[in-house]
Amino acid sequence: MTSDICESQHRGNPLVSCESALSQLLMRATPPRSAEPIPLLASLGRVLGKAISLDRMEPPLPRSAMDGFALRSEDQEIPRELLSTVYAGTAEVPMIGVGQAVAVMTGGTVPPGADTVVPVECTEVHEGTLFVQEMPLAGRHIRQAGEMGMEGKEILHAGQRMTSADITAAAGCGAKEVQVFPKPRVVILSTGDEVVPWDTIPELHEVRDSNRVGVALQVESFGGFVVEQTHVLDDPEALESSVADALAIGDLVITIGGVSMGQKDHLPEVFASLHVEKLFHGVSVQPGKPVWAGCRNQQFVLGLPGNPISSFVMLEIFGRPLLNQLSGQHSPKLPQPQAGVLLTPASSRKRPRYLPATSSVQEDGLIGVRVCEESGSGDWSALAGANALLLLPPRAERHVGDAITYLPLG
Ligand code: AMP
Ligand code: MG
Repeated sequence: MTSDICESQHRGNPLVSCESALSQLLMRATPPRSAEPIPLLASLGRVLGKAISLDRMEPPLPRSAMDGFALRSEDQEIPRELLSTVYAGTAEVPMIGVGQAVAVMTGGTVPPGADTVVPVECTEVHEGTLFVQEMPLAGRHIRQAGEMGMEGKEILHAGQRMTSADITAAAGCGAKEVQVFPKPRVVILSTGDEVVPWDTIPELHEVRDSNRVGVALQVESFGGFVVEQTHVLDDPEALESSVADALAIGDLVITIGGVSMGQKDHLPEVFASLHVEKLFHGVSVQPGKPVWAGCRNQQFVLGLPGNPISSFVMLEIFGRPLLNQLSGQHSPKLPQPQAGVLLTPASSRKRPRYLPATSSVQEDGLIGVRVCEESGSGDWSALAGANALLLLPPRAERHVGDAITYLPLG
């Protein structure tokens, strides 16, 4: 009986599925309205607020794609007079007529009159005369003018998170300054009378504030900007004033701990008294069931359970997509589940389960997934080496060699 109640509700709230909880959350989150200019070279990881387009036809002139000779292909293999050499960067080029050619280097302009470049390895030159041994098809080895696109063609679209490849393409467009959306401002509050700074020596009854370190790094890696982070004791007044201060500056407030069933888990009441609208409290998932989420206009609050694995997994499942959306990022917003083969047995009970795991390519080319040994959701040592989350449906019993799915991390 007790276990059925556990599986259907949390503090009087019906448990919702991860999928429905996430869609409730994302439905309320709108992308930022305005963008700000920053130098292109500072834009790695930022989300574009305005498309980047070609500032001229590319390439503006036909260019050779090979080191070779530019000529008229229709004259076939007749010997040709070599007029000059066109290097990449040569501005003036001659007109090519019947029986004429120029030597042209990769990137050099293909002169008017020429329609084909013969690679150097298909030719011989004797005393200024070119002999073609093998004529390529007409038009070969030329990057035609405009083949990449005309002026104004969108190369990078609004909503894209800039990678090094994107920045390379943007540099080709000469986009010195780019418009990006502001990063969502995030405040992190860890809670708990027993929680002490991670870089101190705890008393036997205390724990290090390891979650806050991890949460801050996860937030930054999801594109958020941690504007403030601190620790608060399990005191309703202290919690209320800290959450109020956080709501004064943050787009997203993430709390750690204090949303479960304990007598000092005050945060749900604190959120209510600050008029944060509850979206859900309690998700059918293991670990992380007590997770809380709500919003006040366009500000969001994510109440992570304090157990380290729960906090890590819930931030991955709810925080990553929320931050992507608040960043203005279009798809893909989420890591897609991947197929793998299980290397250690794993099982779930009544709720879908996420387990920290390591994934690696095996000799047969398949991805092997090994569950990190853990003694429960409080076992922070199980995060060591994790680069994936194994996904298990409810009531699953999986054996070594079984096909499974996992989410890659980072
Ligand atoms: P709570 O959700 O507040 O009931 O906390 C659940 C468990 O997580 C307790 O054993 C806490 O000591 C632990 N915990 C809470 N916050 C943190 C934190 N910031 N870092 C590490 N462990 C924590
Ligand atoms: Mg606590």
